[in-house]
Amino acid sequence: MSPDRWAHFLFAVMCAGIYAAILYARHGKASTGRIASIALAFPFLFLGSAVPDLDISLFGIGGHRNILFHSALPYFAFAWLCNRTSYRSEILTAVKVAFALGLGSHLIMDFPQGRIVGMPTSFLDPLWLLGNGIAVVLVSVREHGRGVCV
Ligand SMILES: [Zn+2]
Repeated sequence: MSPDRWAHFLFAVMCAGIYAAILYARHGKASTGRIASIALAFPFLFLGSAVPDLDISLFGIGGHRNILFHSALPYFAFAWLCNRTSYRSEILTAVKVAFALGLGSHLIMDFPQGRIVGMPTSFLDPLWLLGNGIAVVLVSVREHGRGVCV
C-alpha cells in the first residue's frame, strides 16, 4: 500500500474516532451499539477512503482528481446500491456511514492541494473538494442519527 493510501486511511480512522467520540459524548452508553457497528464496518471505511483514487487506475495519473471520483457521487452510488437490498439493519446504516467517513475524509484531506480534473475553473477546485467532503459526511451522519435506514 502506498504512503498516500496509508495517509488517507489513517486520516479516515481519525475522523471515525472523532465521530465515535462525538456520538458517545452526546448519547453516552446508548450509543455503544452504533459505535460498535461502525467498528464492524471498518473495511468500508477503507473502501471509502480508497474509491476517489480509482481514477488513477482508470484514467492514468493525468486524470487523477477526476471531478466524478472526487465528489459525493461515489457515496450516493454506494448508498443507492445498499438501499436496493431488502436487508435493513443498523449494520447496513453503519456500513454507509463508514463509507461516507472514508470518502469525506479523503476529499477534505485533498482540499489544500485543490486541483480537480474536469472543473471549468480552478478557482472552484478547493471549494468543490471541501464542500463535497463535508456534505457526504453530514448526509450520512444525519441518516445514522435517524437509526435504521428506510
Ligand atoms: Zn484524492
